[in-house]
Amino acid sequence: MFDTLVLGRRPGTEKSYDLVLDAPADLGLDVFGVPEGSPIELELRLEAVMDGVLATGTASAHAVGECVRCLIGVESDLEVDFQELYLYDDAGEDELELEDDLLDLEPVLRDAVVLALPHNPLCDPECPGLCPECGVRLADDPEHTHGEAIDPRWSALTQLTERPEE
Ligand SMILES: [Zn+2]
Ligand SMILES: [Zn+2]
Repeated sequence: MFDTLVLGRRPGTEKSYDLVLDAPADLGLDVFGVPEGSPIELELRLEAVMDGVLATGTASAHAVGECVRCLIGVESDLEVDFQELYLYDDAGEDELELEDDLLDLEPVLRDAVVLALPHNPLCDPECPGLCPECGVRLADDPEHTHGEAIDPRWSALTQLTERPEE
């Protein structure tokens, strides 16, 4: 929450912030997000305009999650830009409004972070995933098999042995 009272509702008045916040809970998606309590570096400029306060800024955070194919941990540094207008009053359904001159940045931050996150995070674009037989991570062991690949020279023999007894 930022108190916009300092801007005095005079268009053109602005105030800049450079600070580190603790990440709120559930910042991100199920598969990838910013852990609660981890630092978010925030550069924020609040500027009074005719109808409200314009919030412009950049947030940087570290997001963690897991590869959707092989479930190994993945992480990435995130930097998101945002700009949002908070109206003094009469905000419509999709608009933001100041409450008692307080500006709640959390919904804006949340939207910006969710947009910036990959919805299908991968440890590698080519990640081969997990072995369907034993669940081993194939990127760690690309050669492994379960004997299902049979040398063609042996297949005739296999057919022979698999033939039901008469
Ligand atoms: Zn992977
Ligand atoms: Zn396997």
